Amino acid sequence: MKIAFIGLGTMGSPMANCLKEAGFSVVGWDAVDSACSRFEYSSSSLGDALSQASVLITMLPSGDDVQVVHSDPAMAGLAENALLIDCSTIDVEASKALATEAEAKGFQMLDAPVSGGPEGAAAGTLAFMVGGEETALERANPLFDCMGSKLTYFGDAGTGQAAKACHNLICGITGLAVCEAFALADALDLDHDKFFNLCKNAAAQSWILENRCPVPGPAPKAPASNDYAPGFAARLLAKDLGIARDAAAAVGQDIPIGQETARRYAEFAEGGGGNLDFSAIYRTIRQA
Ligand code: NAD
Repeated sequence: MKIAFIGLGTMGSPMANCLKEAGFSVVGWDAVDSACSRFEYSSSSLGDALSQASVLITMLPSGDDVQVVHSDPAMAGLAENALLIDCSTIDVEASKALATEAEAKGFQMLDAPVSGGPEGAAAGTLAFMVGGEETALERANPLFDCMGSKLTYFGDAGTGQAAKACHNLICGITGLAVCEAFALADALDLDHDKFFNLCKNAAAQSWILENRCPVPGPAPKAPASNDYAPGFAARLLAKDLGIARDAAAAVGQDIPIGQETARRYAEFAEGGGGNLDFSAIYRTIRQA
């Protein structure tokens, strides 16, 4: 079984490596050459990667990018009844439309966005949120087992993306809360390490606090301790919060804190912080 893995960025390259190390035949491709060089088994063209593949995994920035790949004439080279697994975080309606289009072409499709960051991708411990047909999930399970350690099946096409939108709404709001709290702690002359360890062992504990602590030092592996290299780029969190905002608007649900958080991250990303880890917004809060 040949797997075509498209999108070899921060998340895609370690995920493709997990599959390769588990013994699967994986051929990667990315639109950017420097990303291709992150995965040893990259092809020189999308066509070569897709040719006779029975599984296509996409790990791309947005729904438009997934659409670009799915609309490419090279898709005709996939094996009959191929399984398309989109692990990117994209908007719910776009995901449903892609699944309908895939079905019309004789493919099965799952939306399977992830949580866990590049560290989870490298360790094969990602959490998958999956939507699509159960028979497609059965086909994909051996692959999910290599790349992740937790999976929640939500139901119809698009429900994995719906879960991811809600999940990242929590992450975004929590991220901003942690940044504001550290800015205030700093302004009040509190010691960063002591404050971090207090929160880590008290009610303010969270994955975001421990892994994306916004000040350099207390969490040595966090992006803040590495010049805010992502991690999770602020442009991607801004995109995800926009997805949550649009999903809420579509069903008439008010999410005022989420809307404000989406606005703040969009402003930060557009103001030059887009390629930094989202925790870098701390610096603008502290300066203000
Ligand atoms: P990234 O920007 O590091 O990587 C995306 C890659 O896709 C890039 O290498 C880019 O060149 C490539 N690409 C873009 N358009 C393409 C196309 N049409 N054809 C081929 N390649 C194309 O992003 P990432 O951090 O790896 O995130 C990927 C997806 O995973 C996003 O949807 C993101 O929201 C989601 N995600 C990221 C994280 C994280 O912590 N980084 C965590 C969970 C989910």
